[in-house]
Amino acid sequence: MYFRRLKLSGFKSFVEPAELYIEPGLTGVVGPNGCGKSNLLEALRWVMGESSPKSMRGGGMEDVIFAGTANRPPRAFAEVVLQAVTSDREELEVVRRIERGAGSAYRVNGRDVRAKDVSLIFADAATGAHSPALVSQGRIAAVIAAKPAERRAMLEDAAGISGLHVRRRDAEQK
Ligand code: ATP
Ligand code: MG
Repeated sequence: MYFRRLKLSGFKSFVEPAELYIEPGLTGVVGPNGCGKSNLLEALRWVMGESSPKSMRGGGMEDVIFAGTANRPPRAFAEVVLQAVTSDREELEVVRRIERGAGSAYRVNGRDVRAKDVSLIFADAATGAHSPALVSQGRIAAVIAAKPAERRAMLEDAAGISGLHVRRRDAEQK
């Protein structure tokens, strides 16, 4: 599966609708402090079903909704749309929306689904809200501090090849 486009509206600091094209290969997000880089990564995790407000740096799930500033009123909802292409080359559009007091709702290709259905779509090791392929600020420090063997395991997880070693060991023992 690969990601093509991310659309945000009312999500954290992205108060105005914003659109981001994700090109093939490694994607880096750069910009001054506080411009929303981490928020972007959180939006990606959130639309894939992240259910822990703590890993979204918030106290409650509604904290992802634009909270307002001195000259801008808060928003009533936050919405993130992820467009992807599945490994079967099918177009996939996942929408997650949260409204104050009403919780989250998900849609996949236009149909209402449960949170669980969305997590299942991203259940393989290389994608999903807890994917090692999404490297957040804190994780960079962990990658640098890791011992070589641990670092190798992290990179293999990210590349989605960690299962290969298990299969190779199996094959060698036969
Ligand atoms: P750094 O380089 O310091 O890591 P960053 O680019 O990762 O910065 P973020 O942490 O993504 O920045 O964005 C922080 C900004 O998002 C802060 O200005 C914060 O006030 C704003 N923000 C977070 N949640 C909300 C919200 N619910 N409503 C409005 N603004 C929010
Ligand atoms: Mg950051």
